[in-house]
Amino acid sequence: MSPNLEVIIGLEVHAQMSTKTKMFCGCDNDAFGKAPNTTVCPICMGHPGTLPAPNAAAIEKAMKASVALGCSINEENHFDRKHYFYPDLPMGFQISQYDFPLSSNGSVTYDVLDASGNVSDTKVCGITRLHMENDAGKLTHRGSTTLCDFNRAGTPLMEIVTEPDLRSAAEAVAFAQELRRMLIAVGSSEADMFKGMMRFDASISLREKGTTKLNPRSEIKNLNSFKALEKALQYEEKRLRKLWDETGGPLKGDITVGWQDDIEKTRMLREKETADDYRYFPEPDIPPLRFTKKDIEDLKKTMPALPRELKEQYIELGLTEQQAFQLIDQASLREIFEAVRNKTGDAKRASSLVLTQLLGFLNTAEKDVSEGPDASAIVELVEKIDDGTISANAGKDVLQKMVESGKNASAIIAEEGMQQISDDSAIEELVKKAIDANPKAIEDYKSGKEAALGAIVGFVMKESKGQANPAKVNEMLRKKL
Ligand code: ZN
Ligand code: MN
Repeated sequence: MSPNLEVIIGLEVHAQMSTKTKMFCGCDNDAFGKAPNTTVCPICMGHPGTLPAPNAAAIEKAMKASVALGCSINEENHFDRKHYFYPDLPMGFQISQYDFPLSSNGSVTYDVLDASGNVSDTKVCGITRLHMENDAGKLTHRGSTTLCDFNRAGTPLMEIVTEPDLRSAAEAVAFAQELRRMLIAVGSSEADMFKGMMRFDASISLREKGTTKLNPRSEIKNLNSFKALEKALQYEEKRLRKLWDETGGPLKGDITVGWQDDIEKTRMLREKETADDYRYFPEPDIPPLRFTKKDIEDLKKTMPALPRELKEQYIELGLTEQQAFQLIDQASLREIFEAVRNKTGDAKRASSLVLTQLLGFLNTAEKDVSEGPDASAIVELVEKIDDGTISANAGKDVLQKMVESGKNASAIIAEEGMQQISDDSAIEELVKKAIDANPKAIEDYKSGKEAALGAIVGFVMKESKGQANPAKVNEMLRKKL
């Protein structure tokens, strides 16, 4: 019988920093859509005699990410050369950080969601370290030819290494999603998965439950999406369990495997290289980085709210967890929500207008938040409702038309003649008509049946095609009766 095994997973995450220029030179850091080998210079191409100069903006972004992850920033740290040969690495080494990384010893608290999107568990994953390094170029294999594009060579990366604290593929994905939210929230990375701005290497091993020793692991390289991360870990877990059954134990040594997205299988690449193979030594061309306690304290004062804090705030305001995640994950939606909340001081109303009505109409029209009305257009609609120009009900129709046509609220109200009737003489006219037409209801009301009033108000609303101001109709009716 198979022993009772548990899964041990740790991640290495590479996230591209959202700087204007590369890590050690002034080249454009946005290579997306640019012709190959056009955002390069002698420094990122590793020409002899050139000197790298660290990008201050990148260092600040990596420090902010460190603080967000609860890591302590090491007051003194430095860059190292990590040597390996590969055609996409022009210098013949990567400038990285080895024994003195930028920061270490943090943790991330994250929620695991069930199938319906509700939180089923809250877990903590330790962060071993965060260090900075530059990216390599990109190889494209075509038959027997390999093409090399160095535009990405020198792009600033953060490498974030976790403790082996994750216990399933689902936990690894939930953690990675929370990490992505955090990096975006502090402005360190755009973490756009489609552009390869966030990549994972996942290490997985098995051990008998109740034991504490870590067994040799299989490291799955270069996973580019949450889906790939999940599928690759599920596949490798199954494979290692089968192997355990066959051999009676764990792997004999560390291995490195690649994930083949098309056939959804891993493939053996090599036995794992150890640090000795890289011949690390301190980068002689870049002086050590030194930060004072005050530098670090000052930086902490500039930190924005983290996703978990935002989530707690939204839940306190009466939103559901799913609504909170919708706002946290979509900055443009959050901007609209916050604008309505600021205007009205009413979070429930803001969530009903933005998360129910607006999102509903956007879905129907198959539009993205960025293609719909912006925050100021929605605030204008709120003003039209609050000053009595239109009723709340008519507001819903106006919003739908705003989404469909891209026009603003006042244009739609004018074109469609949707103004609410608040004019006293016009309402008096309508009320008179209602009294004449409903003698039975009037009698009932006069004999004490309060509910009869509703029928008369309903008549007025129907007569006015819903445009009469109901509060005014009520007031006038009571006066007349
Ligand atoms: Zn360059
Ligand atoms: Mn790395």
